[in-house]
Amino acid sequence: MQLLEERILRDGKVFPDDVLKVDSFLNHQLDTALLDAVGTEIAARFAGTGVTKVLTAEASGIALACFVSLHLGCPALFAKKSRTSNISSGVWSAEAHSYTHGNDYTMIVSKEYLGENDVVLIVDDFLANGSALNALWEICKKAGASVAGAGIAVEKVYQGGGDVLRDAGLRVESMARIASMDTEDGIRFC
Ligand code: 5GP
Repeated sequence: MQLLEERILRDGKVFPDDVLKVDSFLNHQLDTALLDAVGTEIAARFAGTGVTKVLTAEASGIALACFVSLHLGCPALFAKKSRTSNISSGVWSAEAHSYTHGNDYTMIVSKEYLGENDVVLIVDDFLANGSALNALWEICKKAGASVAGAGIAVEKVYQGGGDVLRDAGLRVESMARIASMDTEDGIRFC
């Protein structure tokens, strides 16, 4: 998506350790017009798939998920991140490894809000190694929900997580696909 790629080139900052900072517009300060455009595009790609719920993870996926859900006319739902292994029987849960913080954590979603009658579109701001997306997919599988696919704002394709999940059968649509990125040469899109 050209609009998003242009914005990444203009305002994104490449950090060591393969981290792209986009917190001036995507996941800290929010450019809601841009988020609306990205949300509109993701919703359009999954139009007609019968999505009943847009699922993301707190906190950085929530803003985009809201715009996608607005355009699909269904609720947005975010998995909470829990540090305890004391998980109640009232939740679906899955383990994930945090790309940005380096720790393991548990994602939980109340059984009240996700079940076998749902068709889920998973949304997130970034896709790197695929741990977060895989955990969200696993939660859907545990809930017996169908999964229409995943809509991602920025996929760092060279890190491989997206292709592993595509090979495993998940439809993944990414709005900006980064082929390579480093602090000296900057960002190159696919
Ligand atoms: P993965 O689980 O695919 O390795 O990483 C995806 C998650 O890590 C996303 O939910 C996102 O919050 C975070 N993440 C991964 N790479 C980046 C990055 O380059 N920049 C930012 N801001 N977050 C990232």
